[in-house]
Amino acid sequence: MEPDRSTIWPYDEHGDPGRFYYARYAHPAGAAAEAELGRLEGGDALLYASGMGAATTVLLTLARPGTTVALAEGAYFGTSTLFRRLEPWGVRLVEYDQTRPPPPAGLLWVEAPANPILTEPDWEAVRAHPAPVVCDATVSTPVYLKALDEGADVVLHSATKFLTGHHNALLGATVTRDPELTEKLRTMRTLAGITASPDAAAALVRGLETLEERMRAHTENATEIARRLREHPSVERVRYPGYSGLVSFDVADPRAVETATRVIVNATSLGAVTSTMESRHRWEGDRIPRGLLRLSVGLEDVEAVWADLDAALGHSAQGLTLRSQVSK
Ligand code: PLP
Repeated sequence: MEPDRSTIWPYDEHGDPGRFYYARYAHPAGAAAEAELGRLEGGDALLYASGMGAATTVLLTLARPGTTVALAEGAYFGTSTLFRRLEPWGVRLVEYDQTRPPPPAGLLWVEAPANPILTEPDWEAVRAHPAPVVCDATVSTPVYLKALDEGADVVLHSATKFLTGHHNALLGATVTRDPELTEKLRTMRTLAGITASPDAAAALVRGLETLEERMRAHTENATEIARRLREHPSVERVRYPGYSGLVSFDVADPRAVETATRVIVNATSLGAVTSTMESRHRWEGDRIPRGLLRLSVGLEDVEAVWADLDAALGHSAQGLTLRSQVSK
């Protein structure tokens, strides 16, 4: 279905605005996607132009000059980079191991599971903390986690990933249960102009129709790939939380492996029906292990994905042996 791409809707016969009047405030495709995501998460959803747009809006709404944000270590790199950029505005960032109790902070930001380190928050410790809690649930999705039930005040998604699922839309979302907080977020989003496009919202409506089935299939494929990776002689360490499609593992020469695949696309991003893999060191530096590869297992035939990965791992192992022979 084609979304309504109008930016304006006429006022009624009395000159009063109806539900939709200017697209930066709300539009039909956005409202439809928000209703469905809210239903899945059990709260009120808002869409944004991207996951980072959602993070920016949440931070501008919940932080003040002097606020310390305690952020999960090994969580999405862009989040910590954004918060550091905002330090001149008085926001202080502390990164902490989310498997342990959080430090004192005015805002707690966890990621379930953290991308790409794949740790999980200690929810009991999170609930015991007095600060408002944001949970980035991009990788778990509401199929595997209802973060509002766990104690989060705001659930955040890069809906660019699993929720939409086809690498065809850039958008973010928040879900909350506190009507006052929802209105504050909505106002900040609208004034900052961080609104999702109608086309992206329509892609989300379509993606949510198959979310449950896709997530189960991602899990099935990723579980099998993680199991085989654990047995592979060229792989040093495998991280997989047991659900969803994201696996990260360490190898000696990640560039050689990522550039040798044919089925798995060597690209950034994650969460789509197409498998993608990349070395994260190029972006994140020594914050993460140098050899870490982040693999988002798609919905291709798992044997085809494994054959591709196995060949790429063999190729890189041969390259390393040759190089060590040459250097002797
Ligand atoms: N949160 C997580 C866990 C992510 O993986 C990403 C993007 O990779 C983001 C947030 C940012 O989302 P977007 O790229 O839609 O702005």
